Amino acid sequence: MSLHSQSRVLLLSKDSESKIRIVKIRDGTVIDHIRAGKALDVLKILGITGKEGNVVTLAMNISSSKIDSKDIVKVENRNLLDAEVARIALVAPEATINLIKDSRVIKKTRVELPDIITDVVTCPNTRCVTNKEREPIHSKYQVVSKKPLQLKCLYCWTLLEEEDIMSYFSS
Ligand code: ZN
Repeated sequence: MSLHSQSRVLLLSKDSESKIRIVKIRDGTVIDHIRAGKALDVLKILGITGKEGNVVTLAMNISSSKIDSKDIVKVENRNLLDAEVARIALVAPEATINLIKDSRVIKKTRVELPDIITDVVTCPNTRCVTNKEREPIHSKYQVVSKKPLQLKCLYCWTLLEEEDIMSYFSS
């Protein structure tokens, strides 16, 4: 065996090892590369309370080569809607979404913050039309800035700063 092929074998085994660590659920979604400490915020964004009955695995402060340390959330038997992926980008802009089927990653996507984001936080302006109970209007925000995060309500122009948005999600 040449040195070259040996090193290839090593690389392969290293690769499959890291994949095994990530792919432990049979069907569902793995949200990887979440900023350390933000896993609970991601669960909150997805409306996952643990009472749904499916298996939810949470790993926090894991060492990672990409970012200093990271959180991972695995949700069995749950696929994410595009809107949910967009919402995750608010609290975990570096996250990757792995769709798992039959214990294999069949789709891997990076979260991306869209220009317009709906139904994610309630407008802080109590007089905003989206806060009126009888109005069937969903909140809608324009992403004014991604870093630092700034959202503008498209109904009353109220500006939400990153701090406000984060405090909305943290438990
Ligand atoms: Zn508003």
